[in-house]
Amino acid sequence: MIAWGIPAAAIVTYWLNGLMLLLIDSVWRGDVLTQFRLQQDKSFDTSKIWKVAQNILSNQVMIVIPAGHIYGWLHTRGIGLYSSEALPSTTERFMHMILYVILDEFAFYYGHLWLHVNKTKWFNYRRIHKIHHEFTSPIALTASYCHPVEMIISNVLPLTGGMLLCGSHIYTGLVWTVFAVLGTQTHHCGYRWPWTPFFDHQPDFHDFHHEKFNTNYGLTGWCDALHGTDKMWNERVAELQAAREKAGQKPRSSGSALMYYLFVATFVTIFLLDRASASGWGLDILPTSFGSVVEAR
Ligand SMILES: [Zn+2]
Ligand SMILES: [Zn+2]
Repeated sequence: MIAWGIPAAAIVTYWLNGLMLLLIDSVWRGDVLTQFRLQQDKSFDTSKIWKVAQNILSNQVMIVIPAGHIYGWLHTRGIGLYSSEALPSTTERFMHMILYVILDEFAFYYGHLWLHVNKTKWFNYRRIHKIHHEFTSPIALTASYCHPVEMIISNVLPLTGGMLLCGSHIYTGLVWTVFAVLGTQTHHCGYRWPWTPFFDHQPDFHDFHHEKFNTNYGLTGWCDALHGTDKMWNERVAELQAAREKAGQKPRSSGSALMYYLFVATFVTIFLLDRASASGWGLDILPTSFGSVVEAR
């Protein structure tokens, strides 16, 4: 389950969501959709589709599937993920998820920054990270278009390292894997959909990294704020706010502080729900075993 489950969840989600968004961007993009595109004058060069597909497939075969097998092997040694019929408590699931987000931010930020600035012979920018930056206006399918070394440093380790460190249940790991793949594809999709909450600065934040290159290295914006690598972004946000005010529109939030409060509020809500469920108040709304997940369908 662990050896194939995590790679299968990642690969199936990647292709289903990526191809659906490719159809929207490159085959049918009506005027009604163009208004949501972040870089409106650009679209994906479909002549590069096979090059992208080959890169994605080879990274999935060479990196993602072996990583799943390493996690499966570690599990047989009692390290990392565990599996059981009973699901972990709601508090454990959400506590782990929040730790994944924090670990992902730190691991991705420093790994990504290193891929930009290091001058080492084998891992310098031109050899590794330049491939991912081929697309200055990315789409969902190019989210993990990169060198295999980057696939390990920027994708596999930040996204799945948390579940190994936390010693999570496979169920939590699978839910996170689907969420994380949808997350990275959303950051690269090139569209800010109308249902994106106003407090979320993504996908604009990472799209701006692809557009401008030497700014916005993280995901949530916390590490960028800490190191001042969001200066260009703050200037862009201020410009947009001024333009909106001039046009008589309401200014839009840039996100990160509100995102922080949202994480805390989500955690507190889930913790209280879990306590209420444990106290027998009939609020056990989340599944408690693999059996109940299957029954719920
Ligand atoms: Zn980069
Ligand atoms: Zn990117």
